Amino acid sequence: MTAVAENPTIDPLPTAGLAVVGAGVRIPLVTGEEVDYANFDYAASAPCLTAVRDVLGDALPYYASVHRGAGFHSQVSTAAYERARRTVAAFLGARDNDAVVFVRGTTDALNLLARSIPDQCTVVVFAGEHHASLLPWQHRGSRAGRVVRLPLPESPAAAVEAAREALRSAPEGPRLLCVTAASNVTGEIWPVEELTAVAHAAGARIAVDAAQLVPHRRFSLEDTGADYVAFSGHKLYAPFGAGVLAGRTDWLQAATPYLAGGGATGNVTEDDVRWNDLPARHEAGSPNVLGAVALAAACDALTAAGQEALHAREQALLDRLRAGLAAVPAVRDLSLWDAGHPRVGIVSFVVDGLPSDLLAAALSAEYGIGVRDGLFCAHLLTRCLLPEGHAQAVRASLGLGTTEEHVDRLIGAVAELAARGP
Ligand code: PLP
Repeated sequence: MTAVAENPTIDPLPTAGLAVVGAGVRIPLVTGEEVDYANFDYAASAPCLTAVRDVLGDALPYYASVHRGAGFHSQVSTAAYERARRTVAAFLGARDNDAVVFVRGTTDALNLLARSIPDQCTVVVFAGEHHASLLPWQHRGSRAGRVVRLPLPESPAAAVEAAREALRSAPEGPRLLCVTAASNVTGEIWPVEELTAVAHAAGARIAVDAAQLVPHRRFSLEDTGADYVAFSGHKLYAPFGAGVLAGRTDWLQAATPYLAGGGATGNVTEDDVRWNDLPARHEAGSPNVLGAVALAAACDALTAAGQEALHAREQALLDRLRAGLAAVPAVRDLSLWDAGHPRVGIVSFVVDGLPSDLLAAALSAEYGIGVRDGLFCAHLLTRCLLPEGHAQAVRASLGLGTTEEHVDRLIGAVAELAARGP
């Protein structure tokens, strides 16, 4: 075992509710020694906040199906569900007439949007997207619109220019640009405001995949002017199964639900179905009330703490990690843009001479460090960034439970494993 931060220089978390459930859990190493689990997999799923767990505990005795029940539990649950919607709207800086639809996650949200855009809509995406924002557009059944896939841009400015040109030269009619706010591979933050301006100047709309941004930075529909935003609760310190699509109502209100069923229907006769208005229109089936309540509790906790303060703390940990890894000669960082470009707490890297799957397995077994290895559901981007001789990368992602000791342990472990070789 190596490198322990003895003199912490990074601020503690501002409030107790921001501690993650399971922090400090000790796990066995192959040697039999026990260590505090160092979770570096927040970008996949973040552990629940204690504040979220407490809200969930309070809601559990009352949960029931919403909207259609006259009983006390149903009324309490309906109130909690609709309160959660208002909380999420505030968290996202939603405008008065924006819809907030509860879905299962970002993948679900963007598939819903893909099924709701007009038939003739041209969709512009960059090749670097996560598959959730890259693929739904080309799976729109037999609908007529085209998908324009832009190559990876060399810089944020090149991204803006490429989007401008693609939207300008797209056929007349509805156009949608879909972009990731922060990459799940590099953590790099995309120029959403500039891309929104470009989209609007071309008479197009923009959808933002904020799955990796909102756990780290504030995002506002009103401030950015973006038309749609999607994120997942399980990356925002709430349990699995709830996410959000928020934004403009007209296309969503005009679309036939992509999930047909109870709740989405206003009236059903022998030969006709009248669909409900938003948001119920796109929330068919019994909604995930506890998921929505938990997700909203996470939004509340992050807002109360001040996302700027949390960002400063994470930035210090990220700088320490990147500097430490950069000092290991065999380590190669995966970045699309220059090293100074702002990013959330995600670092993907490879170690020359050491396959990433072996590295990830050794980090877990010998050091109690949980990273992710692979192509991270962004195959086009990751393959393009991988240095020759590497088929996969390792991703270390930070969150509220990350400590200096974790960061120093990871740096020390990578240095030791790189020196040892396969
Ligand atoms: N978009 C980005 C940028 C992601 O990182 C992820 C998940 O890793 C998704 C979308 C998909 O999220 P979910 O699996 O919660 O639908």
